[in-house]
Amino acid sequence: MAKINALKRDKYKSARGGHSRLLDLHCRKCNNVIAVYQKDGPGNLRRLYMDRILEPEKLVGLQNKNIKDVSPIKCDKCGSVVGMPYIYKKEKRKAFRVSHDTIVRRIKKLNS
Ligand SMILES: [Zn+2]
Repeated sequence: MAKINALKRDKYKSARGGHSRLLDLHCRKCNNVIAVYQKDGPGNLRRLYMDRILEPEKLVGLQNKNIKDVSPIKCDKCGSVVGMPYIYKKEKRKAFRVSHDTIVRRIKKLNS
């Protein structure tokens, strides 16, 4: 896996204040890592913005697709559906709706 050293900095990030973290998102059922995600600002994780998913490759760049062509996120290991694609209207931004019941987040340790 490629090393991730640079956090994304753009208008969305500045809108939420300076603080960003990288999170490993695990399947709550089987603990498999589902994605690496950049979370901007404080608060719960209710949605995953597609432009903030850094890994795996198949989930990167989905914000450029038509929302109808984006499949739900499934755990590779146990097959649980963990994220449903939708458009977050407030920002007109493509995202996956996620739930505390299906995802566990852990702060990623960066190799620096
Ligand atoms: Zn799983």
